Amino acid sequence: MSDNDGKKTLGLRGSRPGQVKQSFSHGRTKNVVVETKRKRVVVPKQGAAAGGAASPAKGDPRKRPGGISDAEMERRLKALQAAKAREAGEKVKREAEEKAREEERRRRREEAEAKERAEREREEALKAKAEEEARKKREAEEAAKRPKAAPKPDPAAAQAAEARGAKTPSATTRKKDDRGNADAQRQNRSKGRDDNRRSGKLTLNQALSGDRGGRQRSVASMRRQQERARQKALGGNVEREKVVRDVQVPEAIVVSELANRMAERVADVVKSLMKMGMMVTQNQSIDADTAELIIEEFGHKIVRVSDADVEDVIHQVEDKEEDLESRAPVITIMGHVDHGKTSLLDAIRDAKVTAGEAGGITQHIGAYQVQTDDGVTLSFLDTPGHAAFTSMRARGAQVTDIVVLVVAADDSVMPQTIEAINHAKAAEVPMIVAINKCDKPAADPDKVRAELLQHEVIVEKMSGEVQDVEVSAVTGQGLDALLEAIALQSEILELKANPERAASGAVIEAQLDVGRGPVATVLVQNGTLKQGDIFVVGEQWGRVRALINDKGDRVKEAGPSVPVEVLGLNGTPEAGDVLNVVDTEAQAREIAEYREHAAKEKRAAAGAATTLEQMMAKAKADKDVAELPILVKADVQGSAEAIVQAMEKIGNDEVRVRVLHYGVGAITETDIGLAEASGSPVIGFNVRANTPARNSANQKGVEIRYYSVIYDLVDDVKAAASGLLSAEVRENFIGYSEIREVFKVSGVGKVAGCLVTEGVARRSAGVRLLRDNVVIHEGTLKTLKRFKDEVKEVQSGQECGMAFENYDDIRPGDVIEIFEREEIARTLD
Ligand code: GDP
Repeated sequence: MSDNDGKKTLGLRGSRPGQVKQSFSHGRTKNVVVETKRKRVVVPKQGAAAGGAASPAKGDPRKRPGGISDAEMERRLKALQAAKAREAGEKVKREAEEKAREEERRRRREEAEAKERAEREREEALKAKAEEEARKKREAEEAAKRPKAAPKPDPAAAQAAEARGAKTPSATTRKKDDRGNADAQRQNRSKGRDDNRRSGKLTLNQALSGDRGGRQRSVASMRRQQERARQKALGGNVEREKVVRDVQVPEAIVVSELANRMAERVADVVKSLMKMGMMVTQNQSIDADTAELIIEEFGHKIVRVSDADVEDVIHQVEDKEEDLESRAPVITIMGHVDHGKTSLLDAIRDAKVTAGEAGGITQHIGAYQVQTDDGVTLSFLDTPGHAAFTSMRARGAQVTDIVVLVVAADDSVMPQTIEAINHAKAAEVPMIVAINKCDKPAADPDKVRAELLQHEVIVEKMSGEVQDVEVSAVTGQGLDALLEAIALQSEILELKANPERAASGAVIEAQLDVGRGPVATVLVQNGTLKQGDIFVVGEQWGRVRALINDKGDRVKEAGPSVPVEVLGLNGTPEAGDVLNVVDTEAQAREIAEYREHAAKEKRAAAGAATTLEQMMAKAKADKDVAELPILVKADVQGSAEAIVQAMEKIGNDEVRVRVLHYGVGAITETDIGLAEASGSPVIGFNVRANTPARNSANQKGVEIRYYSVIYDLVDDVKAAASGLLSAEVRENFIGYSEIREVFKVSGVGKVAGCLVTEGVARRSAGVRLLRDNVVIHEGTLKTLKRFKDEVKEVQSGQECGMAFENYDDIRPGDVIEIFEREEIARTLD
């Protein structure tokens, strides 16, 4: 409409539309042709048509095409207007619908699985396409219909164009009025009409008219919009479709690192921690359990790593088959005490180590190697008993390949024999039975074999699979046969290792040597340990300064199954610790520090994990438990651990032995100080106190006891602990008497005239008054009289007078039970 206004101001004259004559101040004039844009013409065209229909058509019905009546013309125009309004309304509605649909889609997307969502989107897309097609179809129909309807308004439009200048305003007003009625009219319209209106958007005419083009574009744009929405929805799905990650979590993890590993936003992680009631910042660490909850919430998977990444440098590469070479078996000798384990180990060593080597003197390093006559090398572990075997297993070091079970032929299968069988079975280590002491006249090997049957050890002689050899550690009988049996078993096992790789091994023994510093005997299990190698062992690390073999010789390297003493540690490791060679000192140090830290944290966590209730309960329980503290020093780590384990088994819920401290080496002044402070004795196992310690112990009155047999030690400690048991009170019945008469004695009260029917009545004893076999009173006697005299006791069959302390209700016929209480010292079983 502004165009029209513009034309007016330019002085448009009715006779020369499109031409403007300009007069300038200096007298010149200029004719300007005003070009009207087609688009601009179209807008008023319909308005003008309405205007044209309203006035000139009225005045001159002939100008109307097809002789359409006024009413008809008006109706059509109104319908046209209404259609426009409707289209506008529909556009809004469509947009609203689209928005709602979008909203709905989003909601559903969130609710449903990604796959389902995609499915739904596809369905919607199909629906949209179908709609589109339906619409196109309708458009085609419309296009077919239009030729009839279109010419009608066209002449009116032409008229309107002619009369535009004057008529547009009124047409506009009219149009506005019409639009006001649009809704009402729309309701009156037939369905077919409605469809026509909708499909009218894409007719040829409309396509040519710029105005309609806008609307046509709106369909396309709607389609694009739909497409965009679909893409967005699909795209959204892709975003939403979680990449489920395997999140590695050590025992504790910093929140930001956790977020990082999940590839989630730190803020989201902190938020969900808050929801769980944990107020933590991104720099704080949370434990693995909490992390697991978070990881699950974010839809990922937790992968717990027992050791932190630092341990990864320890190569856990599987060896290739072609790199493997056979290695010597590692043998542990087990059996009951005194069945001859030590003797057998010594006998084997003495028999096989030639006198020339190291002057025939072998050094005790916890293990040794021997060669059989056939040239097979065998490695024997020379550690005390089963404790070493189990504690090593507990630490994850499975060292033993074959167990030799020693049973004395003159004895039978004993508790520790059974224990050894169970250990071997639990570790799935094959057994060879050595029936020892066969030189003895009382030896009965078959009895041993029969007894072993009961424990599911079926030896070869009993048609079983377990090899059995009759030996004598004293005479050396059968030793070669035993070694052959071991060699055969080893062959069956096909033991192999790769000597070319970085070494790994297990600590068999470790001690702090005064001159040499920390020393560990390591049994190399794989690879070759060389002088100069950097290693980590348990919580310690070091660089191999020297390697000393079982014969006391310095060696440059030790291959698989070879036991060596390792010098160059920064601290004393523990038996069962695993040694690994690493590339750099930094790595070794880092791993050792990490392990130390982790062990400390674990201990702290274990302590902190107890709830207050648990602590209260424990404190309460502790009050009732007597404790015998002891301090243990032993020659080797293995013995010390064995003693500690044995000590822990002593006691029940009233008495227990507490090992305050245990260690390897001589008893020192420090030990005495600690023992004095806690009032405990010091136990020396195969070690002695040094002179200052001895003096200090004498001064402070600390008891030192020396042992060389664990079982003696255990018995003694048991006896000591028994002394701490509170004595048991036992009641002994000593007599019965029957009340015959009841007298009243002034100053004394009621006195019962009784006959002692059984046992004795004793003045000092406790008494119970029984009426019809029901105890009605329990107490003590005030007096016990025989005739007129106060007596200490009255024998059975005699009469006596009795009066109760603080009790009077006695009747003839009541029975008095006389008993005594006795305190019994108890022993621990
Ligand atoms: P461990 O406790 O199992 O180590 O047993 P020992 O090796 O200390 O032996 C206990 C006792 O049995 C020692 O006195 C040995 O001399 C003795 N003994 C060990 N083996 C034999 C054997 O083959 N024949 C005889 N007659 N005595 C033996």
